[in-house]
Amino acid sequence: MPEIPAPLPDTDPDDPLARAPARPEPTAAERDAMREAIRRARAIAEGDGGVGIVAAVMAEGRVLAWGENRVHEWSDPTRHAEMVAISAVTQGMDRTDLRGATVISTLQPCEMCLAALRFAGVDRIVYAATQARVHPKYFMFGGLSIEDFRAASNEPFTPVGGVLEEEVIDLYADGQE
Ligand SMILES: [Zn+2]
Repeated sequence: MPEIPAPLPDTDPDDPLARAPARPEPTAAERDAMREAIRRARAIAEGDGGVGIVAAVMAEGRVLAWGENRVHEWSDPTRHAEMVAISAVTQGMDRTDLRGATVISTLQPCEMCLAALRFAGVDRIVYAATQARVHPKYFMFGGLSIEDFRAASNEPFTPVGGVLEEEVIDLYADGQE
């Protein structure tokens, strides 16, 4: 699989004003993909009234597969958008290792998806709407934040949250599906 760019440097120990870790930023390609993901999510929500949650697997700045929430359509509670997107790539490429890929989602991945992404080796997760601002129903372990999961993780991963959040946050405010 293609490589991802080196992470942004953390803090400068010599700069007392730079104590807070650098906030990871999306790449231009990730931003463009998020814009498209939000467009798709809105089209779903405003169209047939389905669940407007859209994810994508990216590598080398290109989208390899899109995924939409299919929980109701397929009567499968595991078919969140992120799961659908990674399954499309792993099954299409006959592999389970997506190391080096990035996953984007219009909504912060839930605990199930976060674990699945990590099992697949995905270590960069870019999302728009953040847990603190959406309906609690989207998370089953609401007492845990993604920072808690990051701190508890066996291996490092980088969450990049709040990307274009204002453009999609209204879809997830009241938890309607
Ligand atoms: Zn999920």
